[in-house]
Amino acid sequence: MIRLNLIDGEWVGGAGERPNINPSDTRDVVSTHAQANGDQARQAVGAASAALKTWRWTTGFQRSEILDRAGGEILRRQDELGDLLAREEGKTLREAVGEVVRAGQIFKFFAGEAVRSGGDHVDSIRPGLDVDISREPVGVVSVITPWNFPIAIPAWKIAPALAFGNTVVFKPAEPVPGCAWALADILDRSGLPAGVLNLVVGSGRVVGDELTGSPLVDAVTFTGSTDVGAHVLAAAQSHRAKVQLEMGGKNPLVVADDCDIDLAVRVALEGAFGSTGQRCTASSRLVVVESVHDEFVDRLDRARQGLVVGDARAEGTTIGPVVDAAQLDQDLRYISVALNEGAHVLGGERVETGVPGHYLRPALLVGTKNADTVNREEVFGPVASVIKVTDYDEALAVANDTEFGLAAGIVTRSLRTATHFKAHVRAGMVMVNVPTAGVDFHVPFGGSRASSYGPREQGSYAREFYTTVKTSYTDAFEGRGRA
Ligand code: NDP
Repeated sequence: MIRLNLIDGEWVGGAGERPNINPSDTRDVVSTHAQANGDQARQAVGAASAALKTWRWTTGFQRSEILDRAGGEILRRQDELGDLLAREEGKTLREAVGEVVRAGQIFKFFAGEAVRSGGDHVDSIRPGLDVDISREPVGVVSVITPWNFPIAIPAWKIAPALAFGNTVVFKPAEPVPGCAWALADILDRSGLPAGVLNLVVGSGRVVGDELTGSPLVDAVTFTGSTDVGAHVLAAAQSHRAKVQLEMGGKNPLVVADDCDIDLAVRVALEGAFGSTGQRCTASSRLVVVESVHDEFVDRLDRARQGLVVGDARAEGTTIGPVVDAAQLDQDLRYISVALNEGAHVLGGERVETGVPGHYLRPALLVGTKNADTVNREEVFGPVASVIKVTDYDEALAVANDTEFGLAAGIVTRSLRTATHFKAHVRAGMVMVNVPTAGVDFHVPFGGSRASSYGPREQGSYAREFYTTVKTSYTDAFEGRGRA
């Protein structure tokens, strides 16, 4: 059965079809998806614009009921949707079910936000006047998402967009149309009127320009690579649309000399290699103080060797495959560049399982310098490098010596060191004694510099991007004063 696109409340075919391939076994076609073309993207934007005229006037309670129903269905179907996610993206079943649960919780959270979205009433500086500050929907929002969190990232963009009365055109990344289709289907059946949510599955090069450049689009929220983010920003700003970008990271994890080494190893292992290292918040630079360096590296490497690389859905697998052949090539290329620049590479070779899949043994690159290519550019795979430093001051300087600013972590027993690090590290999210990856859904997510642009995502802070502010002045007594 071919999975269709959702445009103006109708499930429609496209200009072609594309198979959704399982990275754990490339012989397995998970589903087949109709590919939208530029005209259909234009229709989707037009439908969202038309639907806005009535949707924006629905009550928060009406929107809340729909979001709550969708969140409930996602949570009820967590095992089935988790299986789909693991099958199409390649993270382990445990990680995939966890991501689905998070998506369900996000819809439930924004069901609550929809009825909490009030404004402020302020006394005027002029006698007799009332000042009201209210929030209004931004309008038509294009939602463009990456492949590494196929349901959670769409959830944390679509749920607040709908909660605050916006309409949406949603374009998922090419490798993961299955979860996107399932989410659109759930929302469609949860009671959304036609045109409020439109799903456009198709290559970013084909449908992207319409979603970013159309004058009918009022806001674009994007998560993906820094290069595509720059293109999206330019296209959206050409017609003054509001823009929110979440992009890459080169996140440092500092291992301080007073740390609990067992904890440091657990934190580094999960932060670097969890979800096959394909997380913008992954701990890709392990900045280790020299007094604990050798013991930490030795223990982390033993833990790394204990990871079981295999089919994402097989029992016992602790690290699934890389998402596709292009990403696997990129990972191997960076490992070879690191080798040429003098790193000692532990692991990092392809794994043959007898099944055609994109399997890579996690790689630890020891003896790297912060100036090495692998420490400047995002790899986006199970590849972590170790940078040895003399003390905490050098560790902090190295942590901050990057163009990115998403997440940063430290493992330390010292409250003083932790407090200093939280204050001085340049990152949007700081973790003390927990992995750099793994965040709560009800608090802000995002960073600075090359990692993020625009207002924060998630939690109550999401309101900044998905609403616009109106200030109204009323003289109800028509100049006669209150008394
Ligand atoms: P890409 O930047 O390649 O793609 C992201 C999305 O943009 C995809 O849906 C893609 O579509 C689309 N796109 C591509 N070209 C255009 C265009 N010209 N106009 C509009 N949209 C376009 O990233 P990946 O999907 O490869 O994801 C991995 C990247 O995302 C990593 O660099 C990672 O760091 C980053 N990321 C950042 C996160 C954060 O919150 N900071 C979180 C997760 C990932 P298509 O797939 O069809 O090309």
